[in-house]
Amino acid sequence: MDSVKSYIEKNKNRFVEELIELLKIPSVSADSTYKNDVLKTAKFISESLKKAGCDNVEICETPGYPIVYGEKIIDKNLPTVLVYGHYDVQPADPINLWDSPPFEPIIKKTEIHPDGAIFARGACDDKGQMYMHIKALEYMTTSGNLPCNVKFMIEGEEEVGSKNLSWFVPRNKEKLTNDVILISDTGMIANDIPSITTGLRGLSYVEVEITGPNRDLHSGLYGGAVANPINILAQMIASLHDENNQITIPGFYDAVEELTKTEKEAMAKAPFSLENYKKALDIKDVHGEKGYTTNERNSIRPTLDVNGIWGGYTGEGAKTVIASKAYAKISMRLVPNQNWKKITELFKNHFETIAPKSVKVEVKPHHGGQGYVTPIDTIEYQAASKAYEKSFGKTPIPQRSGGSIPIVALFEQELKSKTILMGFGLDSDAIHSPNEHFGIWNFLKGIETIPYFYQYFTELSKNLINNNNDDFLE
Ligand SMILES: [Zn+2]
Repeated sequence: MDSVKSYIEKNKNRFVEELIELLKIPSVSADSTYKNDVLKTAKFISESLKKAGCDNVEICETPGYPIVYGEKIIDKNLPTVLVYGHYDVQPADPINLWDSPPFEPIIKKTEIHPDGAIFARGACDDKGQMYMHIKALEYMTTSGNLPCNVKFMIEGEEEVGSKNLSWFVPRNKEKLTNDVILISDTGMIANDIPSITTGLRGLSYVEVEITGPNRDLHSGLYGGAVANPINILAQMIASLHDENNQITIPGFYDAVEELTKTEKEAMAKAPFSLENYKKALDIKDVHGEKGYTTNERNSIRPTLDVNGIWGGYTGEGAKTVIASKAYAKISMRLVPNQNWKKITELFKNHFETIAPKSVKVEVKPHHGGQGYVTPIDTIEYQAASKAYEKSFGKTPIPQRSGGSIPIVALFEQELKSKTILMGFGLDSDAIHSPNEHFGIWNFLKGIETIPYFYQYFTELSKNLINNNNDDFLE
């Protein structure tokens, strides 16, 4: 019987080659030009699940892109792990900032990844991290080391708000019953500082449209006499933060929980160098809410950011025009007690109130989700912690993350189980940015750690903890 380490050693080149094939398919869910590629990726995942030993593999239709399901039930009395991941990716724009084409994966060594990293859109988020689970299953089924039942649910719309997952999950509760949900779609602090994400921020995403005159106007004939929607939009957006970089929407902070001094101190234990942070981003200074550290600003505090803004003439040369319309996309990252629907409503009311009479304003909510905090005294967390100890030789640090995976709160509500976020990517892996990559070491370390989680979770669930016998995967 192979140990997980020797199995990885023997098969690692194939694992990487398979991931490269997966990364070549441009499964951009936000852009319908890629529709066939997104569907092709679902097919790829279903084939991979079958090859890894899954039964009852299905490409489940939804009103949008399909969800790929597969399972391996070995004994109904054993616990069941439900793995969630996504096969869609963010758009590659701006393409000209990539050093190599986003859908032609290449392996390059970097300072942080001396063993090489795969550069491609989706390498880390989430194809690489999702594929670790399929390869971990392959190991467990082929070596006879699968200690419990497993189900996979891999969706194709995570990057556009998981709209149809919230349609699918309530309709398939029976099929999806589980004892723990396992997701690798977050990161860890560093390769020598493993961490487990215990908190996620929520999200409210809106698009705003400002309309001035009923048509584009000559800026000489009309300039100064009518509202310019772009000028007005810029003023309105600027007014959403005050001089302390606090958000000015009335009621926005009402539900925000202030962490205790002890909690803040625990957070501050995670190693962090402000100098390196600034250097990595090539910025002279950081920017954010007064009274909070950088790590607090991007994890336990809510934010409001413009994600895109447009209107008027942006082509070559000059065109003297006052545009009829101006637009912006705005995201608000929220903390666990903030209700995203309420925040969306507060934003809408406020934004409509601050608009001058000279323009019309429309706020269109896009999508959102609740924040999430997972307790660390559960057997799920302990199993994950032991798994990292085993593969990294270090106890992982529980870490609150600034990102959002809105479906985690949905899972808890619909499926009544806790989620464990075992992320193996790094913040520097440039997810959602040009030159996204995933360290090969991280990819393989994930494949190694996952079977340990299954083992410890099964043991702890059975309440048969035997410290002398936890080495059967050696
Ligand atoms: Zn993701």
